[in-house]
Amino acid sequence: MFRLEQLIDDILGQRKPRSFIVRGNRVARRIGLQLEQLNERVGNLRDKAEEEQFGTQAVMTALPDGALLIDTARRVRFANMRAQELLQLGGDPIGSSLLEATRDATIDAAARGALLAAAPQTVAIKTAFSSVPRHFEVRIEPIGKETPYLAGAVVLVRDLTDLKQAEQVRRDFVANVSHELRTPLSIFRGYLETLLENPRQPPGELLRILETMERHSNRLSSLVEDVLSLAQLEANESKLEPESFDLSECVRAVVRDWQQKFVRKHLEIQTDIPPHLIITADPVRVQEMLYNLVDNAVKYSKPNGWINISLNRDADNVHIVVKDSGIGIPARDLPRIFERFYRVDKARSREVGGTGLGLSIVKHIAQLHGGAVHAASKLGEGTTMTVTLPSAVRARDAAS
Ligand code: ADP
Repeated sequence: MFRLEQLIDDILGQRKPRSFIVRGNRVARRIGLQLEQLNERVGNLRDKAEEEQFGTQAVMTALPDGALLIDTARRVRFANMRAQELLQLGGDPIGSSLLEATRDATIDAAARGALLAAAPQTVAIKTAFSSVPRHFEVRIEPIGKETPYLAGAVVLVRDLTDLKQAEQVRRDFVANVSHELRTPLSIFRGYLETLLENPRQPPGELLRILETMERHSNRLSSLVEDVLSLAQLEANESKLEPESFDLSECVRAVVRDWQQKFVRKHLEIQTDIPPHLIITADPVRVQEMLYNLVDNAVKYSKPNGWINISLNRDADNVHIVVKDSGIGIPARDLPRIFERFYRVDKARSREVGGTGLGLSIVKHIAQLHGGAVHAASKLGEGTTMTVTLPSAVRARDAAS
């Protein structure tokens, strides 16, 4: 009898008995053999359960969403890493109530509703764990079909913050573009009405009206061009067409194109360009980037100032530096100037024909090439814009 007890103890303690042979009467021997079969079956079941648990855990870990498993009493039975990270479930959430673990009454109420109705429930929640609120969609999916037979529920947490932000950016963009289009259009309408009512304007007044209309029509075309360019750059299929070209020559050509504008504002132009700096990049986009930078340097320069354009390279990168002695940018605005439509002084930018999109275009082009753009500035003293590009962008990198 003592031997049988020891065998049962070993099986319960998951220890492998030395032998299942029990000396003694026939009954004891038979029980010993049955215990051996039982032990084998328990072992098989345990292996199977471990295998299934391993599979479930692997799936849960690989899920891009947060996943929690709760029982019918809404106690947490399992939480994957993503759930712990998204909901900031401190400590070990296993065994605690869903409300304790998530500290969110909406999720708990939805779970109660889903378990009572045996039907999925989805709620949107906004958390304030960090300084930036995050938006989650939480879906509760009961396990099993009917209330008395429910085993619990799966709580899936999806982070929609980036999606919401992207939607907001798009909405702001559309609102900004409409606003920017409305200004010149209402100016056109106003002047056209004036001219229709009284076509015989004094010559000086007529010239002023036509000049204003021309200025706004130029702004309108720049805006449309910039919006289109940005839309192309941001499109998923946006591709660069890299080729090997002489960047030094490209910069010299831009300087030549802008000569008249430099002269008109009495700007001294200094260049520090090596004879032939060859890079592999998209020449059209690089030229667009240079135009925007030089355009800004001119627009925000004080008359009789200077602009310095230099090119240099290190082991992997080339640096294009456009420096001006203009009005400069206040430190608080500096981090935001690459945002679409961000302008330090809206009226001034409009006055000089700006669209507020130039620097976002520069940033996009630099990033598509695997590079970056950096601004340094001192209010009242001037601004330095530095674009860093890898000397060779491979076609495959550029497309991705
Ligand atoms: P904009 O068409 O208004 O020039 P950008 O996107 O090119 O738009 O630039 C955004 C803002 O950054 C400008 O409105 C201006 O306030 C500021 N800025 C850009 N470049 C310079 C510069 N070289 N000097 C001073 N301010 C600048």
